[in-house]
Amino acid sequence: MKIYLDAVSTTALDPEVRETYTRLLDEYYCNSDALYDDGVAIYDMQEKARRHILETLKLKDKELIFTSGASEANSLAIKGYCLKQKEKMHAITSFYEHSSVYNAFRQLQEQFGFDVTYLKPDKEGHITPEMVENALRNDTCLVSIMAVNNEIGAINDVTEIARTVKRHPGALFHTDITQAIGKIPLDLRDADMASFSAHKIHGLKGSGALIKKSHIELLPLISGGQQEYSMRGGTSNALVNIILAKTVRLALEHQEKDQERLLRMRKHLIAGLPEKVRVNYDNGVVTLINIATPIPSEVLLNALNKEGIMVSSKSTCGSRKNEPNRSLSSMGIDEDHAIRISFDHTNTFEELDRFNQCLKEILNQYA
Ligand code: PMP
Repeated sequence: MKIYLDAVSTTALDPEVRETYTRLLDEYYCNSDALYDDGVAIYDMQEKARRHILETLKLKDKELIFTSGASEANSLAIKGYCLKQKEKMHAITSFYEHSSVYNAFRQLQEQFGFDVTYLKPDKEGHITPEMVENALRNDTCLVSIMAVNNEIGAINDVTEIARTVKRHPGALFHTDITQAIGKIPLDLRDADMASFSAHKIHGLKGSGALIKKSHIELLPLISGGQQEYSMRGGTSNALVNIILAKTVRLALEHQEKDQERLLRMRKHLIAGLPEKVRVNYDNGVVTLINIATPIPSEVLLNALNKEGIMVSSKSTCGSRKNEPNRSLSSMGIDEDHAIRISFDHTNTFEELDRFNQCLKEILNQYA
């Protein structure tokens, strides 16, 4: 039996999402910008889905751009906004952002002459409003801080950071909520832009969105036609976009329904960890636990893999690169012995028990 404990990396399709997708796939093939009835019907459904997602997230007055996922949404927010600037050439982000944010800023810095401040998390793993306040300058155009870190699970107070940036004239605030949506309560009213992805919440891969205040103008990264407020060209992946509304609704329903059970699962998992194991970070999102074991993570991952248990040691987007891990190193965590376990409502207590049992056996064998 396979056990999947890597929900931070991606998730399986929700059966309801799959059912709707497969049912509509053959029927909804028309171009949503076509002017005949079937095209207009799909267009209307896509617009309804757009509104529905904004309403579900209590952001009715904002605009939503459908994208291929969070990486694209992050790139569009960061590069799309900064490259429109003429004078304000300073930006602020954190050292432990996902690579799609971090490398967008690196590119702005290295290729386009931007000055970028990379904030390091404090001892508790947080980027605080005070840190942002102190880094803001007269020429700051954009601040981007993630809501939940994808490797240690640290939760940042993005509501307060958004308010801090709002008080500073001329700077906008963007947040990557990919690991936060469906996991923690979010108040994004004061945030200028927010990105997320469908496949982390049991939706389709290749689907996501950037939410932004409507007056914000972005340089399109994909030049093209009128689609997505002329900010993202290309024939709309309309059915996928329509399905995103259901995906978000289901994720928020689960967030409410499963809170208590997920917390019990976390406690159960931690209580059952073998003696030689330490929790690296215990202050974050309920469903992610980063642990340290006495044996190298590569060896442990392989041994667990042989038992059919899927976990990871770091962000899957950097799993084949040999670069130091920014999240763990900025927290002083030894990445060579760190393992990331992440679960959600689809996992069971029995799976957690089996994980702990296998871990114990492997540690007895290797350590
Ligand atoms: N941001 C965060 C915090 C993530 O965890 C991920 C996925 N690893 C992304 C962005 C990128 O999402 P996508 O795969 O949809 O491009």
